[in-house]
Amino acid sequence: MRVGVVGGGLAGALLAWRLREASDRVRVEVVALGRSVVDASAVSGGLVRGFEVDPDAGRDAADSLAEVRSDARLREWSGYREIGSSYLLPRGVDPTGSVRVVDERLPGSAEVVDAAELRRRFGYRDLRDDAVAVVERHAGYLSPARLRDSALAWAVEHGVHVVRTAVTGVVTGPTLRTSDGSVREYDAVVVAAGAWSPGLVEHGGTLRTKQIQYGVHRVDLPGLGAFVDEDTGLYGRPRGDGTFLLGLGCDRWDLAPGDVRPDPGLADRVAAEARRRFGVPVEVSPPELVVASSDCYHASAGLRLRPAGPGLFTFTGGSGGAAKTAVAASRIAAGGVLNSS
Ligand SMILES: Cc1cc2nc3c(=O)[nH]c(=O)nc-3n(C[C@H](O)[C@H](O)[C@H](O)COP(=O)(O)OP(=O)(O)OC[C@H]3O[C@@H](n4cnc5c(N)ncnc54)[C@H](O)[C@@H]3O)c2cc1C
Repeated sequence: MRVGVVGGGLAGALLAWRLREASDRVRVEVVALGRSVVDASAVSGGLVRGFEVDPDAGRDAADSLAEVRSDARLREWSGYREIGSSYLLPRGVDPTGSVRVVDERLPGSAEVVDAAELRRRFGYRDLRDDAVAVVERHAGYLSPARLRDSALAWAVEHGVHVVRTAVTGVVTGPTLRTSDGSVREYDAVVVAAGAWSPGLVEHGGTLRTKQIQYGVHRVDLPGLGAFVDEDTGLYGRPRGDGTFLLGLGCDRWDLAPGDVRPDPGLADRVAAEARRRFGVPVEVSPPELVVASSDCYHASAGLRLRPAGPGLFTFTGGSGGAAKTAVAASRIAAGGVLNSS
C-alpha cells in the first residue's frame, strides 16, 4: 500500500511513524514544506494532561499521556516534564465521567478539589465559592517540536521517504500535485497540514483556522504547574527559568496561516488577568516574547482521521489541543488508513 502524508508537523510525523511501525508492507511518503515554515508544533506550549471536560477527548489525552509516561523512548523523544496540572472547571460541569477516564489510565493521578484548596495550594484569588478544579499529579508539558523531529527521524531511518516541497493540489484518485511540477499517486492520501489543511481540502466547511497566542511573562507563581482556568480563559505553565508561559483565548478565526499577527491588546489583558487571579506582580510580555500562530479547528474537536473522498483523509482539527492527544490519535489513525485498503 502506498500512503502519501501531506505535512510534517506533529500530526504528519507521528502518523508516518505509526504507519511504518504497524506494517512492513506500507510505503509511506511524507510531502512537507521545508523547516523554514514555522508550524504550530514548533511553537506549541505543549501542555499535556489526562483530563478533558469532554470524556471522549479525554480518552485520547489520557491514553497519550499514559503511553508517554510508560515508554522510555517516547519520554526521550518528547522531553516530557511532569510538573502537575490544575483545571478550573466552567460552572456547573460535573467532572465525574472524565475523572474516571483518567483514573482508568493514570491511576491515582486525578483529584477533585474545591475553592479553598485551590487558594491554599496554588494561590488562586477572587474565586467563586462553588469553584471546582481537577488536579492531576501525572501531567505537565512536552516539546511537540522535539517529538515531531524524533518521530520523523525514526520514520526516515526505517524507510519513510520525505519530499520537501509544497503540495499545490489534492485530487481524489488520490493524487498530489506539488510545486516542483510533479504528480504523485498513492492508494491513500492523508492531509495532515494543520492550519493549512482547509486551503488544501474541501471538508464541507467543518475545518477552520483560529489564532492562538501566548506570551512569556516574568512572574513568581510557586507550586502552580500547568493550569487552565475556564472562568477567565487564562492558561499557562512554568518554563523552568523563572518565567511563565501565559495565554488567553483569542477570537481571530479563518486567518490564512501566513497572515497571523500578534494581537497587542491581548498581551496586556493576559498580564492584567493573571495579576487579578493570583494577586502577584506579572510583567507584560515584551513583543519579542509574544508567540502568535494558528491551528486547525473542527466542529467536533479532536485530532482524528476523517474521510474526505475516495482514498482521501484528513488528520487534523486538533482545535488547539493536539499536542496532548496526538500520540494516541496517530495510532488510531494509522489503523484506519491501513484498514481502508
Ligand atoms: C501557539 C500554540 C500553542 C499551543 N499549545 C498547546 C498546548 O499547550 N497543548 C496542546 O495540547 N496543544 C497545543 N497547541 C496545539 C498543538 O500544538 C497543535 O494542534 C499541533 O501541533 C498541530 O500539529 P499539526 O501537525 O496538525 O500542524 P502543524 O504543526 O502546523 O504542521 C502542519 C505542517 O503542514 C505543512 N504544510 C502546510 N501546508 C503544506 C503544503 N501545501 N504542502 C506541504 N506541507 C504543508 C507545514 O509545513 C507544517 O509542517 C498549540 C498550538 C499553538 C499554535
